[in-house]
Amino acid sequence: MKNKIIAGNWKMNKTRAEAAALIEELIPLVSNTSNTVIICVPFTDLELAIRLTEGSNVHVGAQNCHWKESGAYTGEIAPSMLKEMGVEYVVIGHSERRTYFGETDATVLARTKAALNAGLKPIVCIGETLSERKEGEMEAVLTRQVVEGFKDVTAEELTNIIVAYEPVWAIGTGVTATDEQANDAIKYVRSVFARKYGKVAADALYIQYGGSMNDGNAKGLLSMSDVDGGLIGGASLVAAKFAAIVHAHE
Ligand code: PEP
Repeated sequence: MKNKIIAGNWKMNKTRAEAAALIEELIPLVSNTSNTVIICVPFTDLELAIRLTEGSNVHVGAQNCHWKESGAYTGEIAPSMLKEMGVEYVVIGHSERRTYFGETDATVLARTKAALNAGLKPIVCIGETLSERKEGEMEAVLTRQVVEGFKDVTAEELTNIIVAYEPVWAIGTGVTATDEQANDAIKYVRSVFARKYGKVAADALYIQYGGSMNDGNAKGLLSMSDVDGGLIGGASLVAAKFAAIVHAHE
């Protein structure tokens, strides 16, 4: 059985002082887990997070990176800059970036390829909106996001990628997908990957669920056959809650 990969997405939260307090509280709470623990922090907290987590089992990720290595892209961060700092993971294509910052399947693909080329492990987010689900378009949307968003990704590269299935209607809303809804959607996503990469590669691929996962519902979600972990927003900002999710299924 796979272990679970539990990643916190802090979004635009935590000053350096607040980040230090949270990380110092979190480390001892998760030190004995068999699951993989990742915190994806704001750029301004990365250096601190890498320093404080050194020697612990907490891995550090960023929340975005650009697709170019350098150049006139004001406000952007290159994957190699993150890699040089010691960052291991990077969230790509989060629905908030797709909604507010014009992220498309094409930019998700470009960022993913650049991150891989720099030696980072992308956590690539996909998921349907409420209206898409209601209109029966969930499978078509997920298929498009996988087919277009992974168009140039090789089978070898796929082994360094984590996928996060995050139904947009469940993110930050307090409305969680049921255990079955999460598992069914992830099973479907896995079948789309299997079409391109084969069943062995698709089964090996880690696909997380994200969307209002918390210390109360994590056990049920993480016990489902196809749910390989969680990408957690709000609940990752409180050490005890995040640690409870990390330990919910071991
Ligand atoms: C997220 O930011 O990826 C997320 C799932 O947020 P929340 O857990 O707050 O719904």
